[in-house]
Amino acid sequence: MVLQDLGRRINGALTDLTRAPTLDEKAFDGMLREIANALAEADVNIKLVANLRKTIKTTVKFSELPPSANKKRIIQKAVFDALVDIVNPHQKPFEPRKGKSNVIMFVGLQGAGKTTTCTKLARWYQARGFRTCLVCADTFRAGAFDQLKQNAIKAKIPYYGSLTQTDPVVVARDGVEKFKKEKFEIIIVDTSGRHQQENALFAEMVEIQSAVQPHQTVMVLDASIGQAAEAQSRAFKETADFGAIIITKTDGAAAGGGAISAVAATHTPIVFIGTGEHLLDLEKFNPESFVSKLLGMGDMQGLVEHVQSLKLDQKDTMKNITEGKFSVRDMRDQLQNIMKMGPLSKMAGMIPGLSGMMQGMDDADGQSKLKRMIYICDSMTVKELDSDGKCFVEQPTRMVRVARGSGTSVREVEELLTQQRMMGNMAKKMKGGLAGMQKAQQQV
Ligand code: GDP
Repeated sequence: MVLQDLGRRINGALTDLTRAPTLDEKAFDGMLREIANALAEADVNIKLVANLRKTIKTTVKFSELPPSANKKRIIQKAVFDALVDIVNPHQKPFEPRKGKSNVIMFVGLQGAGKTTTCTKLARWYQARGFRTCLVCADTFRAGAFDQLKQNAIKAKIPYYGSLTQTDPVVVARDGVEKFKKEKFEIIIVDTSGRHQQENALFAEMVEIQSAVQPHQTVMVLDASIGQAAEAQSRAFKETADFGAIIITKTDGAAAGGGAISAVAATHTPIVFIGTGEHLLDLEKFNPESFVSKLLGMGDMQGLVEHVQSLKLDQKDTMKNITEGKFSVRDMRDQLQNIMKMGPLSKMAGMIPGLSGMMQGMDDADGQSKLKRMIYICDSMTVKELDSDGKCFVEQPTRMVRVARGSGTSVREVEELLTQQRMMGNMAKKMKGGLAGMQKAQQQV
């Protein structure tokens, strides 16, 4: 089951409960059963599901609730907290230090998304002011170095690799030594994968680890591997003792619950999630915002209906969406419309991603956040506004210019563009009207 489907099912169970004629213990148990089924179908480990059910039951203590209690609120909070607990290992991930050389080594099976994610992460740190570089120690897969090189050139990140040296340990050591001498702050080492967990892979990982002494080892897990994620992460943990997980392809049709279960199995935090093939499709992971987004998603249709009911001027955007497009200008128009629609907290929850961004903010804070987003758009050129946003990736200095012009930060510009891209991806899938939209919602 796709993660967003999972969110929708859980939301549905909560809504059914609150709509039940009498909110009694039977209805509460029914909701728990539905949530448990949804989690199991998304490949979340069955023991975790059973625990979650027990935790919610004991937290809520339904039979002891006083008649005046806001049962709906209490139950919603218990469900939210229990879901957060599944993805929260209560371990602080490693934070790189400025002015020092921080070595980050990637491990994972072939095809998991290591090479792609290495560059995404390098760019992420680079945009935050770290001197960042890449080392390709994947000498096993033909073309791996070339792939990393192409990505690195596109993102303007220094890289190291060899076309002649076949020993990955030598390449890793040489690359890390070189970049350490040059005082790089984030040195990301990509390593080989194999199609399966096999001894040769594990032996190589250990050798590279002892040669480069990483400050952090990151395991890259493909969200679509489902139940297998747990055994795989345990096997890697035993050998490479990674300290963080990045889950890739959360945008795909994935049984993402399996990968999430890996967190509990290995007591290791997820630090980022990959949300697409693009360089900017990497989101920092936070358990609370992940769950709120998971639960907050899936009301795009509600949003469209609400917008239509307000009779706001949507012509151009709607036309674009039916053509599968969603430009930065469309994003700006939508932001402005949202400001007219209020109450903001409700509206933000309807837009994928926006509720996560606005979490913990009251309506006034949210309103000022939206205004800043509009200022960002207003500092763009006409061409940039009407673009699909790719020009900012190709020329990151544009983001710096826009941030300066709007009195905001590069991070905020990036956030806005990520948001616009998400909407753009949805628009692509929405070609073909409401039926297409419903399908798109199930796929995002
Ligand atoms: P590696 O063998 O582990 O280095 O894997 P690659 O980095 O070559 O990635 C394998 C494939 O997965 C490539 O086609 C990537 O574009 C794709 N990929 C990686 N991360 C993501 C993601 O977050 N979403 C999607 N949709 N595709 C991804």
